[in-house]
Amino acid sequence: MMPISSQKCGFKRWLLACCILTLASLTAGAQSAGDATFTVHVVQRGDNLYRIALQYNLFAEQVAEANGITDENAIVVGQRLIIPLITTDAHRGLTHSVAAGETLASIAAAYSRTAEELLALNSLAAPEAIYIGQELLIVPPAAGEASAPPATAPPLTSAEEPLAVADARHSFSRFGEAVEGFVHTVQVGETMFEIGLRYNQTVDAIARANNLLDPSLLSIGQPLIIPGIQLPRLAQDLPAIVHSFTIDPLVFSEGRSGRISLRTRESAAIHGQFLERDLKVITSDDGKQHHILVGVPMFTDMAVYSLQLRIESASTGEEFPLSANLQVIAGGYWRQSITINNSDLLEQSVEEAEKSLLAGLAGTFTPERWWQRSLSLPAAAAINALFGTLRSYNGSPFNRYHSGVDFAGAPGTSVMAAAAGRVVLADRLHIRGNTVLIDHGWGLFTLYAHLSEALVIPGEQVASGQLIGTIGSTGRSTGPHLHWEVWLHGVDVDPMQWVQEVFP
Ligand SMILES: [Zn+2]
Repeated sequence: MMPISSQKCGFKRWLLACCILTLASLTAGAQSAGDATFTVHVVQRGDNLYRIALQYNLFAEQVAEANGITDENAIVVGQRLIIPLITTDAHRGLTHSVAAGETLASIAAAYSRTAEELLALNSLAAPEAIYIGQELLIVPPAAGEASAPPATAPPLTSAEEPLAVADARHSFSRFGEAVEGFVHTVQVGETMFEIGLRYNQTVDAIARANNLLDPSLLSIGQPLIIPGIQLPRLAQDLPAIVHSFTIDPLVFSEGRSGRISLRTRESAAIHGQFLERDLKVITSDDGKQHHILVGVPMFTDMAVYSLQLRIESASTGEEFPLSANLQVIAGGYWRQSITINNSDLLEQSVEEAEKSLLAGLAGTFTPERWWQRSLSLPAAAAINALFGTLRSYNGSPFNRYHSGVDFAGAPGTSVMAAAAGRVVLADRLHIRGNTVLIDHGWGLFTLYAHLSEALVIPGEQVASGQLIGTIGSTGRSTGPHLHWEVWLHGVDVDPMQWVQEVFP
């Protein structure tokens, strides 16, 4: 942690570097100034074109035009809209993305501003109102040309001056000590285009920052420098007992899972609540490492929610409160309208009864952990329906959703355990037909439905990849397929996130 005085000094030097750079880029040809580029906005529940436009300092007409929209009411949740960015970075001011453990006071101090200034600048009601992932305005947009530091580190435009990667911390030597690049680790299935979108950077800018000749050649786990993520890094305002506090992802979404990790300096017990539920905290390493896995239920309203933690020292019994505001956004799932003649299938009470039975079983907690890293796919078959698709039956509201991932496989195709665990249910259910539910420990469960038969019994310990049944069409099913669900602390969540990402 850098002392505040040296941060201030670094910031001034950075400002100076920015001014010099701005001048340099003006003379070297204003490639970045005035470039009309774009970002993508995923339509959230409650969004309308006017509100979206306002968010990006645009008129609704500009957004409509960029997307060929003729009917302003025709946008749907999950739709991706192109947002033209007409202003350049230099005109947007300087913003800071709030991280876990930061307070308005610590952010203000790091930028040599006061909390009161930031309150006024961001129209905040109170310092506690900030939330993780929020973009706080630090320096208002410049009225004139190049008088404010750019919102992001300036793009590296000059070919004669390739970016120098000075050391393992990936600091940009030309900016001095104050500005470092953020390092992104490439995940399974990611493309440069997606990474660029995520950080509001062009593929070209990232390729240049990393000296990549071919941006299409990425490898999993490869570290990528993302230029333009705001720094300096901030001092975190954490209770003394807390060594580190991370939240991943920074913004949670309905139907998906998130991780909260804490490291304490001494042995401690942690208790907490989020989304009106008591959190299960998994503690290891002599009581110093704490993991919390959170499943955000589908249809959680898009809002900012308070995460409340209590850290209790094992030696003194002293308690330290720690809270953070977390944003939950819509999952961006597709919509599907289904027309069926058999009204028997519309009986929602049967569905709800079965679901609450499963939620009860999957809401139990086994302290052992049998799964490692991520889950494997349960069948060698094509996926033909994803989790979360919002469904309307015979014109009803979109108040139901697909609770799992479907694999289209011939009857008799092998179904394998997605990870090691213990079978807690192998039974015939009304809707899911022959169903196997496996407890993987730490609150994680997987479910396999519509099986022609189950090849395991409750209480049986299974290995990852073990044959547990075969694909069938039992229960409420329109044809042979495997319906696969993942449950976390009694909440059904998107299974593919558990295949693609490593938990915790
Ligand atoms: Zn299904």
